[in-house]
Amino acid sequence: MSAGTRQRLRQQLDAYMAKKKLRSTAQRRLIVDTFFDGSPHVTIEDLLTEVRSQDRGIGYATVYRTLKLLAESGVASERRFGDGLSRYELADGEDDHHDHLICTSCGSITEFEEPKIEKLQDAIAARHNFRVTSHRHEMYGVCGACQARERRVGS
Ligand SMILES: [Zn+2]
Ligand SMILES: [Zn+2]
Repeated sequence: MSAGTRQRLRQQLDAYMAKKKLRSTAQRRLIVDTFFDGSPHVTIEDLLTEVRSQDRGIGYATVYRTLKLLAESGVASERRFGDGLSRYELADGEDDHHDHLICTSCGSITEFEEPKIEKLQDAIAARHNFRVTSHRHEMYGVCGACQARERRVGS
């Protein structure tokens, strides 16, 4: 994700909070900063653990509400990768869309960008006179590390 996109998402959040007349508390700022700078595809629990290492006083409900706010304002995208958990990541910009490979063995999530796939999707949509507003590609399978482990166990 480019610095420009991050900057734009920050401004989008500020504008949304101003419109909704929401106060920016110190706890909320810490949660937002941690979300922007921390690991991608976090669950509520992941983010709670990360912010609590900075401020023990932050509760689950505050993290939950802040993530909902990030999602409502379009700054965060909510994702579900088949394990029953909601995960959150920064929303894609106009020109930096990414998709995911999900390992069903260890749960690792790998991001990829492939302009050829994006182009092909546009062509398919055009062929069907379909106006695409969003899409997601998720490939489920076994990652390289897990395949190596399987081979070791098997031999
Ligand atoms: Zn794996
Ligand atoms: Zn992602």
